[in-house]
Amino acid sequence: MINKKIAVLGSTGSVGTQVLDVCEKLGARVTLIAAKSNIRLLEEQIRRFKPGVCAVEDEAAASLLAVAVADTDTKIVPGYDGMCESVAECDADLVYNAVSGKNGLLPTLAVLGAGKTLALANKESMVLAGKIVNRTAKENGAMILPVDSEHCAIFQCLKNGRKSEVKRIILTCSGGPFFGRSFEELEGVTVAATLDHPTWSMGRKITVDSATLANKGLEIIEAMHLFGVGCDMIKVLIHRQSVVHSMVEYIDNSVIAQLSVPDMRLPGQYALTYPERSTAVIPELDLTAAPLTFCEPDVKAFPMLSLARHCAKEGGLLPCAYNAANEAAVDMYLRGQIGFNDIYRITEKTVQKTNNVADPDIGEILECDKLARCAAYSYKETSISDGDT
Ligand code: NDP
Ligand code: MG
Repeated sequence: MINKKIAVLGSTGSVGTQVLDVCEKLGARVTLIAAKSNIRLLEEQIRRFKPGVCAVEDEAAASLLAVAVADTDTKIVPGYDGMCESVAECDADLVYNAVSGKNGLLPTLAVLGAGKTLALANKESMVLAGKIVNRTAKENGAMILPVDSEHCAIFQCLKNGRKSEVKRIILTCSGGPFFGRSFEELEGVTVAATLDHPTWSMGRKITVDSATLANKGLEIIEAMHLFGVGCDMIKVLIHRQSVVHSMVEYIDNSVIAQLSVPDMRLPGQYALTYPERSTAVIPELDLTAAPLTFCEPDVKAFPMLSLARHCAKEGGLLPCAYNAANEAAVDMYLRGQIGFNDIYRITEKTVQKTNNVADPDIGEILECDKLARCAAYSYKETSISDGDT
């Protein structure tokens, strides 16, 4: 039994449901859950976990849920601000942020501002405002435990030496469903093929990002801020089996890796039991099942990766513009409004047109997010595929 009180933001999502599963298996008490509008699942979770508070971003959905669970002791808190306030005030020792997209940023700051330990799955928090997130954590003595599987792996590998002894971080990448194809061959790929990820089962947005390698691009920026390293110290390697979750190479050329079957419940569990470990909730790894292979990524076929590196190097608002344009483009792609490679064209054009600012504040970041999203949606109307980028 884990004697900790847990809050889970994004409890109805792919990561959130797996974290709740781990909490249940290890007997941790869930005191707060939050999501956007999936009240059918929230009601089920309220009856199963009996949290004191359930925050629902969509206010109409919150009213309906309040009626549906009127027979329970769970308080329903409506609205985005309500979610941020209730998570800052709640009695949880550990808060998982598994909200998707840029809406994860303000809850991250609310949790850290309250000095609570944050188990961070929402990579966008670090991409948009890594410096501000780290500053808020430091000022309030709060700790961040990475839940993104690669970053959880790096966090563990970094325990094998001093920071000054690290030569590079090796971020592994499955390569997604289109590994081996050229940019031209990717022009007409269908949404169904894009969502058919070879090794991980995840939410739709991140599954598309795994196919374009934008996910790895976002993870480079996330790693820079989580571990305080420059972009040149982070190398990406394609590893089709998703067994080695990432590695750290030290100055003596020793490479430390973390391996397991690909299952998000493990990083969820690591954060829950940290600094200890406890009985497994995931299956054992069979190292004889398949050979482990590694190769360089093809940045010509997957230019979202090099575009992310460019944004990471420039810093300021460019990572935010990259993320916002990509979120908008993925949304249009999933609606069948643009082609697969247009995700890159639209993101590149948006980044190019962004007026960068060094060390932006939260207001400037949120404004950039809004403008970049608008710009990206507007590019759908133009002849983006005619090479005008
Ligand atoms: P999903 O789309 O499956 O779930 C998103 C969750 O966030 C849902 O609970 C959703 O609620 C909630 N949500 C969305 N917007 C809001 C909002 N404005 N206020 C409150 N709740 C909100 O996403 P994933 O679980 O796939 O991903 C979550 C985060 O974790 C992302 O940042 C992703 O990059 C990261 N991540 C995911 C991995 C994975 O395996 N899926 C792996 C590593 C990182 P509702 O259901 O009501 O819409
Ligand atoms: Mg990851």
